Amino acid sequence: MRILLIEDDLMIGEAVSIALKDAAYAVDWVKDGVTADGVLENAEHQAVLLDLGLPKRDGLDVLRRLRQAGNTAPVIIITARDGIDDRIKGLDFGADDYLVKPFDIKELLARLRAVIRRQGGQAAPLLSNGQVTLDPTTREARCGAAVEALSAREFAVLQALLLKPGMILSRAELEERIYGWNEEVESNAVDFLIHGVRKKLGSSIIKNVRGAGWMVEKAR
Ligand code: CA
Repeated sequence: MRILLIEDDLMIGEAVSIALKDAAYAVDWVKDGVTADGVLENAEHQAVLLDLGLPKRDGLDVLRRLRQAGNTAPVIIITARDGIDDRIKGLDFGADDYLVKPFDIKELLARLRAVIRRQGGQAAPLLSNGQVTLDPTTREARCGAAVEALSAREFAVLQALLLKPGMILSRAELEERIYGWNEEVESNAVDFLIHGVRKKLGSSIIKNVRGAGWMVEKAR
């Protein structure tokens, strides 16, 4: 699950970035509105955290352009502007949620889970394909009688697959969802993570489609 953080305040950006990584997200962090525009044109993020008061281009402008370009990623505005007008404008420009600084990082993570869930067409907090059920709040996976705690990255790989059951995700697509820009990715990293998930939950959980990638079954 790859998140774009657009925030020019270094202390807040650092804190949010660390918390997101701890919660198993891959994070790309940009610090001004023009860079954000460029990144949003070219990279695929599952959600965007957007500050409004940004250098070079205002956050509301970034949001407006992103929606005009047809980008449907969930956007949560995080800003010190607590004026009601900004809040309304942000939501009307296409934001999905709004958090006023200072906020509790736990609340940000909960709101992020909620908008990502909605984006995947799910209202229920647990992700499931009928065979395996994943709890994003605890990173526990349940399969039959077995309940296993997954590592942050094992969780990220299984979550990516469960958000698109029945669809094959390639190595590149999985890497994009699991790792941020600055992270070095070993060529067999995805295989290693999938091996770890299968070892805990059973090898039938994730299917290998030779030459194409991996998938989980769609619920019947
Ligand atoms: Ca700012």
